[in-house]
Amino acid sequence: MIDFSLSKSQLELVAKYKDFAERVIKPVREKYDISGEFPWEVIKKAYDEGLMNSQIAKEYGGEGLDIFDAALGTEEFGAVCAGIGISLDATMLALTPWVISANPDQLKRFMGRLNEEKGAAAYCLTEPNAGSDVANIKSNAIKKGDKYILNGHKRFITNAEAATYLTVFAQADPERGARSLSCFVVPADLPGVEILPRLDKMGQRGSVQNEIKFHDVEVPVENLLGREGEGFLIGMKTFDRTRTGIAALSVGIARAALETSLNWAKNRIQFGAPVTANQGVSFMLAEMATKVELARLMTWKAAWYYEQGLKNPGTYSAMAKYYASDVAMQVTTDAVQVMGGDGYTRSFGVEKMMRDAKLCQIYEGTNQVQRLVISKGILK
Ligand SMILES: Cc1cc2nc3c(=O)[nH]c(=O)nc-3n(C[C@H](O)[C@H](O)[C@H](O)COP(=O)(O)OP(=O)(O)OC[C@H]3O[C@@H](n4cnc5c(N)ncnc54)[C@H](O)[C@@H]3O)c2cc1C
Repeated sequence: MIDFSLSKSQLELVAKYKDFAERVIKPVREKYDISGEFPWEVIKKAYDEGLMNSQIAKEYGGEGLDIFDAALGTEEFGAVCAGIGISLDATMLALTPWVISANPDQLKRFMGRLNEEKGAAAYCLTEPNAGSDVANIKSNAIKKGDKYILNGHKRFITNAEAATYLTVFAQADPERGARSLSCFVVPADLPGVEILPRLDKMGQRGSVQNEIKFHDVEVPVENLLGREGEGFLIGMKTFDRTRTGIAALSVGIARAALETSLNWAKNRIQFGAPVTANQGVSFMLAEMATKVELARLMTWKAAWYYEQGLKNPGTYSAMAKYYASDVAMQVTTDAVQVMGGDGYTRSFGVEKMMRDAKLCQIYEGTNQVQRLVISKGILK
């Protein structure tokens, strides 16, 4: 018999994340939605309360969670503010290549500084001409003595302006192209790292994105993760893990939109009765509730599947990411509709959820790209 109930320690973990989200994130979410700034005050408190870098082993100062438990926490962030939630989780995205490929000495060095500074990190894959087409990355890092000389241009990089470390994908040998793609940990304060002004955007405004240019940046050879040429694999293995997190964030957004619109609709009287007395409304709510449940089930299955060490986990994390983020978009849009004019105002939060949901369909690979990943997986 399959058991869908959470253990005592998982319930405590959910309660801890929920409490943090309500107590620390909720009071400031509107401020950051307006300003679009990096929520440093929340990041520092997350370090103080042991909620940062969830999947880094405890001996290196992380929480030591597996991706299932990390997803439980991320749902709680998504339910309160996906923007600030992604600011917290984007550091873990940048650290996931470290989890996959860093040696103990590298982990000790990099995590030592990150924990001391209570800092952020950024995952630097996308380029102006390499979005969905990751293999077209043109940044390059050419070995010269005990350094790699890094040149290139990255785009849409979450946390860039706040980062202590940049996890950068670049070709080590332009003649071998994508086959030489390698992954480097680059301290953001090295000479030649240029962070461009913050991008303005529709939703998840409690997170920041910048372009980055690298001009002859001298990266020590000890900062190469794994071996030269392993970058593409590291990047894809990263998404096998982290797309489950985007799915969980999406479930959180959708759950919050459902709860908000359900409570509102039960109390809104029109034609002498709550609007939920109309099947036109109650059936919408029924479908929203069903989709939230299904999205969570897919997310849990993908996380569970990964942790079982079964073959081809990327197929399931892609399913979870696209399904849950599509659900978040549908449910938040329906929540605005259920709430009529109130839904469209900024007073109830569902318009923010709708703006926030849209991004989950785009980053970490668009939902079209997820379908490509899934079709390749099932056709193998
Ligand atoms: C707010 C934000 C934060 C981000 N954070 C990061 C980050 O921290 N680090 C990072 O490296 N990147 C980050 N990204 C980049 C993000 O992952 C890319 O935007 C995304 O992968 C899509 O690439 P693109 O924008 O270049 O779109 P394009 O690749 O130009 O795609 C345009 C359209 O074509 C479709 N398309 C493209 N190729 C195919 C295909 N083969 N089949 C079907 N449809 C296709 C896409 O689905 C999309 O609809 C972020 C982006 C945003 C907007």
